[in-house]
Amino acid sequence: MDIGLIIIFVVVGLILWLILKHVFANKCPKCQQYRAVEYEGHKITSEKEPFFKTLTREDIHKNSEGKETGRTERTEQVRMIRYSTRNYYHCNKCGYKFCKDKIVEEEG
Ligand SMILES: [Zn+2]
Repeated sequence: MDIGLIIIFVVVGLILWLILKHVFANKCPKCQQYRAVEYEGHKITSEKEPFFKTLTREDIHKNSEGKETGRTERTEQVRMIRYSTRNYYHCNKCGYKFCKDKIVEEEG
């Protein structure tokens, strides 16, 4: 994978995560108070299931002067793993306990 693309994804992801965390997270679904929810941990609730994802990559061709001479697209099969997790939380204001299920997809 192109290193520049990875850096962009990481930076954008980090910014979005910080914004979302600040605005929405830590709100208790029961007492509606902010900064109340604490993460306890998670459990993997399904088998790890492998699958293939087709990604489109773009190659940039450059001449000896470093100028772009063209681009070609190619598809690439990436081996991925998918599994479900259950994240556990509790509210430190009212004691409410709840969990959220999430599907995780990662390269593997
Ligand atoms: Zn609460």
